[in-house]
Amino acid sequence: MIGDLIEAPACRECGCTQNNACVTNGVPCHWVEPDLCSVCAGKPDVRGLAIISASQAADALAELLRFAREGDGLTGPFQTDVVEQLLDAAKMAMEVEGYDTERPERAEVYAAIVNFLDGWA
Ligand SMILES: [Zn+2]
Ligand SMILES: [Zn+2]
Repeated sequence: MIGDLIEAPACRECGCTQNNACVTNGVPCHWVEPDLCSVCAGKPDVRGLAIISASQAADALAELLRFAREGDGLTGPFQTDVVEQLLDAAKMAMEVEGYDTERPERAEVYAAIVNFLDGWA
């Protein structure tokens, strides 16, 4: 059969195929895009999040090093929101890592960061 010669499409994220779907709570995935299944389409873009987190952390790092070399900025030690950037980076890193329900203090830290950053950015 000619159809058997055409390679079955696979999900670009998890590699599942028509005949080997991911199953969540007993429900198999379906195609959202030609090469993206519904399970992966519903996941947050954690790699994209990691890039943003790294970028925030890098900006904070640069300002910390600037302070180490040059000292105080115009309004205080830092010319940028170093602490906010680091916390934002940490928050996104936590989102990338996901949640460990056995460590409630982590959820508290996350909530405190979200609260602290509310209105910033
Ligand atoms: Zn998938
Ligand atoms: Zn799938």
